[in-house]
Amino acid sequence: MRVLYKAFQNVNLSCLGFGAMRLPKTGEGEKIDEPKAREIIEYAYEQGVNYFDTAYRYHAGESELFLGKVLKEYPRDSFYLASKFPGHMMEKADNGKLKFTGLLASHPPVNSLTEVFDAQLEKCGVDYFDFYLLHNVCETAWEFYTDEKIGCIRYLLEQKQKGRIGHLGFSAHARAETIETFLDKYDCFEFAQIQLNYLDWTMQDAKKKYEIITSRGIPVWVMEPCRGGKLASLNDGLNALLKEKRPHDSIASWAFRFLQSLPNVQVVLSGMTTLEQLKDNIKNFSKNNPVTQAERELLFTIAGKLADMVPCTACRYCCEDCPQSLDIPKLISLYNEHTYGKTANLPFTTLPFTMGAMKPEELPSACIACGSCAKVCPQNIDIPGVLRKFAGELAG
Ligand code: SF4
Ligand code: SF4
Repeated sequence: MRVLYKAFQNVNLSCLGFGAMRLPKTGEGEKIDEPKAREIIEYAYEQGVNYFDTAYRYHAGESELFLGKVLKEYPRDSFYLASKFPGHMMEKADNGKLKFTGLLASHPPVNSLTEVFDAQLEKCGVDYFDFYLLHNVCETAWEFYTDEKIGCIRYLLEQKQKGRIGHLGFSAHARAETIETFLDKYDCFEFAQIQLNYLDWTMQDAKKKYEIITSRGIPVWVMEPCRGGKLASLNDGLNALLKEKRPHDSIASWAFRFLQSLPNVQVVLSGMTTLEQLKDNIKNFSKNNPVTQAERELLFTIAGKLADMVPCTACRYCCEDCPQSLDIPKLISLYNEHTYGKTANLPFTTLPFTMGAMKPEELPSACIACGSCAKVCPQNIDIPGVLRKFAGELAG
């Protein structure tokens, strides 16, 4: 059984991409269980997967090194290697150096962007990346990526001209409006990688993001198709609902078939930890079997039940008279994400990026509970109650 391909410019990319961020581990921190990981990568390659995705920070920096080591055994022109620039975890220090932040804060500062990019090529054991991305363009990374003095995008375009990057793209956990502004500012990106699945279609506004990117003629790369594995096994009742419709299909296959129904999706990246997951994914991507309209509706119903979301439709009636000028639908959307992320112990929310960049007067705690919003809400949402709860949980 071999995976399907889809043409991108002058190359054919496997519809299933191998994400090297969740390789099997030994149990000691992020240390990769090399024999097991090698088996999975080799199996993927043998079944026709030709797109391999890593990043500076995956597995505490070991992913690039290990993936490069395994892929080195194959002809360089038989696979496409993608990595990412870690600008979302960098900032300019007072002494002019570029320092790492967040999870990478322990890394020594560098003098230039070249030091980072060259080290990545060296770790992967290649002269060029077929695909290269700005890692996580988001509200908190905006300053770094758009600072002309740092010149990150300019530098990467130069690397592309030199043949050290084949195709330049970006990944984003940003809000739809931020992605739109970014694309208004830059027209040099050939692909965009976003978190897209039937749960985030509404919850993280992925529909809008997909439509914005598609309207620019840019193909979409998908990350978190199964929401960190959460859509591979729902609760018992919801699993039974899907099993009743298609008894022989895995629960995860529904998430992949949903993505097959979106024509502008080019590569679906899955971070596979076991051979079993990989085999199921290869089965799903060996045929084109998009969900029907009825199945799509069923998935959206399931998403609603999974998230138990505040049913805001983003009509914005409530915003007109808010004395605090709060962006209420945005806050409710963040609350939904927060609530679901908490109950399902869910990774990959945009919350830290988005809320970290918000001013105090934009946060839920700025609500003075005047109640004028709730009076006009067609969904009868207790908006001040939701914001009070959200503010309390954030404070906690
Ligand atoms: S209750 Fe809060 S969110 Fe609603 S209008 Fe008043 S200040 Fe704005
Ligand atoms: S009026 Fe209600 S449904 Fe409309 S945006 Fe406000 S909270 Fe959401």
